[in-house]
Amino acid sequence: MNKFDSQHVIVTGGTRGIGAGITEQFLKAGATVIATYSGNDEAARTFKESLNLYGNKLIIKKFNVANSQEVESFFTDYEKEFPSLEILINNAGIRRDQIVATMNESEWDAVIDTNLKGTYNMTRFAVLTMMKNRYGRIVNMSSVGGKLGLPGQANYAASKAGQIALSLSVSKEVAKRNITINNVCPGFIETELLKDLPEDQIKEYKSQVPMKRFGKVEEVAHAVLFFASKEASYITGATLDIAGGLNA
Ligand code: NAP
Repeated sequence: MNKFDSQHVIVTGGTRGIGAGITEQFLKAGATVIATYSGNDEAARTFKESLNLYGNKLIIKKFNVANSQEVESFFTDYEKEFPSLEILINNAGIRRDQIVATMNESEWDAVIDTNLKGTYNMTRFAVLTMMKNRYGRIVNMSSVGGKLGLPGQANYAASKAGQIALSLSVSKEVAKRNITINNVCPGFIETELLKDLPEDQIKEYKSQVPMKRFGKVEEVAHAVLFFASKEASYITGATLDIAGGLNA
């Protein structure tokens, strides 16, 4: 199935975890994918090597989504290198959990800057590029945490709820240009983002999920590809939970 043939996709944080799964599914479906990351060169190199069969259909770029100058220069280069941009997946994200009373300003800022300001930075330039062709699909990787508000995640929950609010506003601005923006809200998904959780907390979280297990990256990726497809043409400003029944 080469549903995304001739389409160009940017996946931020597309070299590890959920983003890597999304990159892989888009490649399988015929797209050219620009997968980005910010620091882990080794993971990016290994990931690129593992997908060598896709040749120059997979391009890896390194920059910080929270830094507006780096984002602007990425898009300046992008427009020289690629003829169009059809799809943006705002997936890059971090956690710095701490109860609010002891959360310091840098923990607050790091999460809001990466997860929410990063989404704004990327969306702003992507929309300008997409408007030229009057076509675009944007998908934000939000979280059920943005709707449930788990303890210790005031920064993370605010950033994830912020992505949903941002999409509601932007969806109305760009609807006439045939650009859609939607959100997926994963629950607990097996990636390195959760690697610092103690074993007893993992057990406790799994017991709260009606399906009694954590999700897999492919289970998120398939939903993202649906929102990014031409067929999802009348869906915008929407939010889909992918959480094994752990819905807000
Ligand atoms: P992950 O395995 O930790 O991977 C995060 C990716 O984002 C990496 O490629 C990382 O680059 C990149 N990244 C981090 N900060 C960045 C920045 N400032 N600029 C550019 N790239 C940056 O995380 P994940 O579990 O796949 O999570 C991906 C998204 O899903 C996040 O937005 C997360 O909030 C959301 N989510 C995850 C879960 C879950 O249970 N895993 C649940 C709900 C929502 P490096 O490789 O260079 O570090």
